[in-house]
Amino acid sequence: MKNHPKNRWQDSVAKTLDPVARLVYRSNLIGEDPTLTNTGGGNTSSKIKETDPLTGQETEVLWVKGSGGDLRTAKRDGFSSLYMEKLKGLQKNYLASKTKGPKTQIEDDMVGAYAHCTFNLNPRPSSIDTPLHGFVPARHVDHTHPNAAISLAACAKGKELTKEIYGDEVIWTEWQRPGFDLGLILEKLCQDHPKAKGAIMGQHGLINWHEDDKKCYELTLELVGRAAEAIAKKDRGEMTFGGEKYKSPGEKERKALWLSILPWLRGKVSAQQRMIGTVQEDATILRYVNSKDAPRLAEMGTSCPDHFLRTKIKPLYVAWDPATGDVAKLRSLLEEGLEAYRADYKKYYEKCKRKDSPAMRDPNPTVVLIPGLGMVAWGKSKSESRVTAEFYNCAVEVMRGAEALGGYINLPQQEAFDIEYWQLEEAKLKRMPPEQELARQVIAVVGAGSGIGKETAHRLAKEGASIVCVDLNEKSAQETSAELVKKLGDGIGVAGTGISGCGPAIGLGANIVDRKSVAEMLGEAVYAYGGIDGVVVTAGIFVPPDLEGRIPDEKWAQTFAINVTGSYVVADEANKIFKAQGLSASLVLTTSVNAVVAKKGSLAYDTSKAAANHLVRELAIELSPLVRVNAVAPATVVQGSAMFPRDRVMASLAKYKIPFSEKEGDEELRTRLAEFYAKRTLTQSPITPADQAEAAFLLVSGKRFPRTTGQVIHVDGGLADGFLR
Ligand SMILES: [Zn+2]
Repeated sequence: MKNHPKNRWQDSVAKTLDPVARLVYRSNLIGEDPTLTNTGGGNTSSKIKETDPLTGQETEVLWVKGSGGDLRTAKRDGFSSLYMEKLKGLQKNYLASKTKGPKTQIEDDMVGAYAHCTFNLNPRPSSIDTPLHGFVPARHVDHTHPNAAISLAACAKGKELTKEIYGDEVIWTEWQRPGFDLGLILEKLCQDHPKAKGAIMGQHGLINWHEDDKKCYELTLELVGRAAEAIAKKDRGEMTFGGEKYKSPGEKERKALWLSILPWLRGKVSAQQRMIGTVQEDATILRYVNSKDAPRLAEMGTSCPDHFLRTKIKPLYVAWDPATGDVAKLRSLLEEGLEAYRADYKKYYEKCKRKDSPAMRDPNPTVVLIPGLGMVAWGKSKSESRVTAEFYNCAVEVMRGAEALGGYINLPQQEAFDIEYWQLEEAKLKRMPPEQELARQVIAVVGAGSGIGKETAHRLAKEGASIVCVDLNEKSAQETSAELVKKLGDGIGVAGTGISGCGPAIGLGANIVDRKSVAEMLGEAVYAYGGIDGVVVTAGIFVPPDLEGRIPDEKWAQTFAINVTGSYVVADEANKIFKAQGLSASLVLTTSVNAVVAKKGSLAYDTSKAAANHLVRELAIELSPLVRVNAVAPATVVQGSAMFPRDRVMASLAKYKIPFSEKEGDEELRTRLAEFYAKRTLTQSPITPADQAEAAFLLVSGKRFPRTTGQVIHVDGGLADGFLR
């Protein structure tokens, strides 16, 4: 039974749960196993006796996974609940319609009617698959998208093979777009084949049912296992996908190749809108892209209708020979390939569009396949690009199975189009909240381990950016990124090799005075997300003078190295990526009000910050027109600052003759000093890291000050001595 999915049902857990919780439990068990279903794909249901809040009488309610969300992460609120009687009653309306059947208006209208069947004011919208569950008479129904079963569903001999593998237990149904009519077809199937336990839905997936929920789950496993077994028996081994045509370079060379093309490629696929990437280069994908049949199969496109919206009808495959190692050639092939792809996509749209079709969407590919290297998938966010990669992984597995079983077949173009440009999908897209200001942007925050940097990372993440948290102290950078992931969630989609499988934030260590270290850090960021759109540098150092008020030479040098050279190195290395992408970008440095206020006790720091102010202007000129360069100049941010360790705080308190006790905690002492500083400002209130983070956000966002560059903004509470003139 080695090809059978693992049974993870635990009676000890299930018996503690109420019927709806048992459905959630069963759904999660299915969703967590990638051999059973893909992210967001499939749905499950139970018909449960409930007390009607209107009558106090018992009534039968269909609980079914609702629209949106996915089985792996679904909770109770992910399920819609409908009066069975009302849902069944809709059949009368449907059948009374003059025009009915797949793709008719009445089908789409039925989706709107499900809301009227809602039991107990459940706000979760119902999925288009609701009638599939409602009209199958069995109490429990699982509909899944298992690669093994879809291999059957997308095989030239699918119908015969279904009979061969399952006999009369599982019935074949021809491809039909999901909807009310498909529900009626399944209802009839159950009447005609009273012994049937399930159906293979042509080019779509599996559906099966049982009176008992545990047995329904076990049946899902069994049916998927039997398909997997049949595929394993016919596995083509070395001859999978026609056998190997190209060899992959070693892991290190592959990574170097990826880094040399990713930002450039991202710029190309982001011509209409910025995209975030996920790289996949595991053995399964490499075997596929390196195979003889990859060009033919790639052209045929993905099969499962769930996939089209993300993977598009087909990926872009380029016939590059990795043995040449010729990156220039790879670029020219990609360039030609992209052009041909866009033209092809336009042709497909023009050919298949209907009178009321939504306007053509971005014609750039979202999946790019390169022999020797693997796959990069693109999406509007990290999570979305992982889903795209996951879906194409599924497609590769489906193709492997279908090819082994006798030949992969794709969905006719018009059918694919009618899914991709379905009015219901368009309506769903339109209902989505507008994208956040920094969505589709990758921003590195250098110094994110503490203080202003940490605050900035949080502020930018809140606006939807993917955040590369960087700090000399790698652990602190990772702590900040972990905080962000916890706050925002990992998202959906299970894919990505190494750090490219990350969530909305990563944490990296880097020493900004070491060019190699900075280049490596940016390389990791590029591998993780495909490119970078902005960098905020908050890292800096303040070295207090010794007891005689002097700064030793090496401390002077260190101050300049970190506060000036470090920012320059980061800008210079990031600019290589910005230039390769060819997309507008933004750089925000952190200087200080001290840069323009001469005073005793901070000679090295103040002069270094004066140099940093001028660095901003020089970089603004050097990096224009692609990159805007600005700076935030804070003053006396004491709260949470690594630049105000306890001894500096106490030294300052002593200097200003503010009474304090050594027994007081760090924060108390800091608050005391911050309040003192606040009194010296025009606005009379303490200056916080959040104030600085806000300014960094305004400057780094391309939307707030798009025509401001070479500027230093003081965020200092109002210090008249610091006024620029
Ligand atoms: Zn489905």
